[in-house]
Amino acid sequence: MTLEENLARVGGYLKQFQAGPIHHRIGGQDVLASDGRTFDSLSPVDMSPLATVAQGTEADVDAACQAAKSAFADWAATSGAERKRVLHAIADGIVARKEEIAFLEALDTGQSLRFMSKAALRAADNFRFFADMAPSARDGRSLYGNNQLNVTNRVPLGPVGIITPWNTPFMLSTWKIAPALACGCTVVHKPAEFSPLTARLLVEIAEEAGLPAGVWNTVNGMGEVAGKALTEHPAIRAIGFVGESRTGSMIMKQAADTLKRVHFELGGKNPVVVFEDADLERAADAAVFMIYSLNGERCTSSSRLLVQRSIHDRFVEMVIEKAKGIKVGHPLDPATTIGPLIHPVHEKKVLEYFDIARAEGATIAMGGEKIGTKGCYVGPTLFTNATKDMRIAQEEIFGPVLTAIPFDTEEEALEIANGVAYGLSGYVWTADVTRALRFTDQLDAGMIWVNSENLRHLPSPFGGNKASGIGRDGGDWSFDFYMETKNIAFATSQHRIPKLGA
Ligand code: NAD
Repeated sequence: MTLEENLARVGGYLKQFQAGPIHHRIGGQDVLASDGRTFDSLSPVDMSPLATVAQGTEADVDAACQAAKSAFADWAATSGAERKRVLHAIADGIVARKEEIAFLEALDTGQSLRFMSKAALRAADNFRFFADMAPSARDGRSLYGNNQLNVTNRVPLGPVGIITPWNTPFMLSTWKIAPALACGCTVVHKPAEFSPLTARLLVEIAEEAGLPAGVWNTVNGMGEVAGKALTEHPAIRAIGFVGESRTGSMIMKQAADTLKRVHFELGGKNPVVVFEDADLERAADAAVFMIYSLNGERCTSSSRLLVQRSIHDRFVEMVIEKAKGIKVGHPLDPATTIGPLIHPVHEKKVLEYFDIARAEGATIAMGGEKIGTKGCYVGPTLFTNATKDMRIAQEEIFGPVLTAIPFDTEEEALEIANGVAYGLSGYVWTADVTRALRFTDQLDAGMIWVNSENLRHLPSPFGGNKASGIGRDGGDWSFDFYMETKNIAFATSQHRIPKLGA
C-alpha cells in the first residue's frame, strides 16, 4: 500500500472521533468531564487536531473508582475459565480491528506503521497469554509444619489504577491491564494525554467482547489532575505505572497516604556493550535496531554504545553506514522507519540535547538536527567522542539518539555501564561465554540480552533496577503484584495449647 492509500484509510478510521469528544468510559457508560472541559489530541505529523477528548476531573476519577469498586466482587468471583474466555474474546476483538488500531496509533503517536502493526498483534498476544493463566491465578502451595498444614492461596487485590505513557500506548496498556483482569481485579485506566485515541478503542473492544460494565473504566486527562486523583483514591488498592522516573517518584508520594502498592516501569539509559571478539555485523544490526526503531522512544532502547577501543572506529562506521539507509518520514508511509516525535514539547527536549552535546565537547557524527519545518521530525543521530559523565551519557533522551563511548577493559566497560542512575536493560556482545557470564553477573540491570536485541518472552520477568523501576511484570510476577497471598494453617494433631492463667 502507498502513503496516499493509507491516508485515505486513516481518514475513514478518524471519522468516529469527529462526531464529538472522546468520552470517559465509566461503569459501561460514555461520560463527559464533570466540568465539560476537553483537550485536543494533536498529530505530531503536522500538529493537526485528531480528536477532542474529555479532560478528567477529580469527580470523574471518583466515579470511575466507585464503578470499579462496585464491579469488583462479581468479577473476582467469576470463574477462571470464564475470565479466560472473555480475555480471549478481547484478543479476538483486537485482531479484528488490528489495522484500525495500527493506523490510529501511528497517526496519534508518530510511530511508524511497520512497528505499530506488530504492536497491535503483540497486544492480542498479551491478552491470550494472561487469559491462559487465569484459571490457575489463585493456586498456591502447601507447606508442612510441626502439627500443621499450611495452605497458601491468592486473592485478587481489588480495584487497581493503571497509568500509561504515550510510547506504544496500546500495546503497553494491554501488558498492564490484561494480567489485572485475568486474576480478578477491576481497573481504572488513565491513558497518556498525548495519545488517547487507541485507549478508547481498547475499552470498547473489551466491553463488546463481554467484559461486564465497570470492570474496566477509562478516564482521560492530565497527569497532575486525573492521574494524581487516581493515585490518591482510597478505593484503589494498587497503582501499575509506566512512565518517567520523576513521575514515579511523585506517584509514590501521592499514594503514600492510602498505603497503596506500587509497581513502576520507568526510564532507562541502557548500554549495549560490544567487545572486540563479538560478531560485529550482528551487533551493529542489533544496536541500530534498538535505538532507531520506535523513534528511539522506547524504554529498553540501547541509548549508550560502549565499544572496545580496538574496534571502536570500525564499529561506529558500521553503525553510521546502516543508519544512513533509514527513512525518516510520515508514519503511514510503508517505507518509513522513523516518524515524528510525539509532541513539540518532547521534540524540544530532544533538540536541546544536540546543543548539550556540542557544549560538552562531543562530536555529532550523524544527524543532530530537526528535519523540515512541519511536524516533529528528527533523524537518526550519533554522538561520538563522548565520556561517561557527560549529560548525553547519563540522561534519558528518549529519541533516535545514540551516544558512543570507547572502553579498553572489561572492568572499565562495567564501570561505565553501571555508572548511571538507571538499570533497566543491557545488551552484551561477545563470543566469550565465560566473560558473558561474569559480565552479566555484575551488570546492574533488570533485563540483559547476550548476543541479541530485545527479544521478548512473555513468561520471563520484565522490569528495571535503580531509577528504572520497582517490581516485575510478565508470567506469574504480574499476578503476584495484583494479588494478595493468604496463608491458612490447619492443625493436624491435638498439639499442646499453652494454658494461660491455669
Ligand atoms: P510521564 O511520566 O510523563 O507520563 C506517564 C503517565 O503518567 C501519563 O499518563 C501522565 O498523564 C501520568 N502522570 C503524569 N504526572 C502524574 C502524576 N503526578 N500523578 C499520576 N500520573 C501522572 O511519561 P511519558 O513521557 O508519557 O513516557 C515516557 C517515559 O516512560 C520514559 O521515561 C520511558 O522510559 C518510560 N517508559 C518506561 C517503560 C518501562 O517498561 N520501563 C516502558 C515505556 C515507557
